[in-house]
Amino acid sequence: MTEALVKLQNLKKAFDKHTVLNGINLEVAKGEVVVILGPSGCGKSTLLRCINGLEIVQGGNIIFQGKDITSDKKSWQQVRQSIGMVFQSYHLFPHMTVMENILLGPLKVQKRSKAEATADAERLLDRVGLLSKKDAYPRQLSGGQQQRIAIVRALCMYPEVMLFDEVTAALDPEMVKEVLDVMLDLAKQGMTMLIVTHEMNFARAVADRIIFMDQGEIREMASPDEFFTNPQSERAQQFLNQFF
Ligand code: ADP
Ligand code: MG
Repeated sequence: MTEALVKLQNLKKAFDKHTVLNGINLEVAKGEVVVILGPSGCGKSTLLRCINGLEIVQGGNIIFQGKDITSDKKSWQQVRQSIGMVFQSYHLFPHMTVMENILLGPLKVQKRSKAEATADAERLLDRVGLLSKKDAYPRQLSGGQQQRIAIVRALCMYPEVMLFDEVTAALDPEMVKEVLDVMLDLAKQGMTMLIVTHEMNFARAVADRIIFMDQGEIREMASPDEFFTNPQSERAQQFLNQFF
């Protein structure tokens, strides 16, 4: 097997005395789509935030592209550019146009040429069906459109892996599909992704592997078919019963 793109070894995270991640072991291969499921408060967001360097961990290792980046601040600055993250709230700057929002990272952080980055942004906007909105302001867009822009903004940094944390949870139902379709398209193109979602049909369709977390631990790791038809633990069965 080729080297995992992201490898978590016995990852531990606590807030004060409250243990939130209790020894997470996970390897994600290049091109793999891993969907993380689990009840509210089980540590899904914290896990993604640790991978992205937004949280300091108390134990274990984070290996990215074969390099241990756990506590090396210098590596993080580099690595963060290779790890795109999209959140439930889109965090677009309201006083900037769509294009200005997207170009911020490529120009300011990556110091790319404006012509090259703009061409790239236009190509990505076209791919999500929003090229005509490039000069609009966020307030002129629907929630679903803003979330697709947030995805384009992350993609424009050429990430090696994309982390999605409940990106459709705040959207009106009719806008959920347009965002999930973008993610399905990305998966088809071979993007490595870790996805936290409560959209079970989407999870089943997009995932190569499902991870079920409970109380800061990975309780099950299975193919989507296995997990959805035959979850092993009572906890996972209870979890799935809410949806089906
Ligand atoms: P999930 O995304 O699965 O709902 P989270 O990772 O957001 O869960 O949270 C896991 C646990 O960690 C929860 O009990 C939450 O209250 C706690 N937690 C998350 N972030 C913080 C923080 N910044 N300070 C203190 N506790 C936190
Ligand atoms: Mg969360």
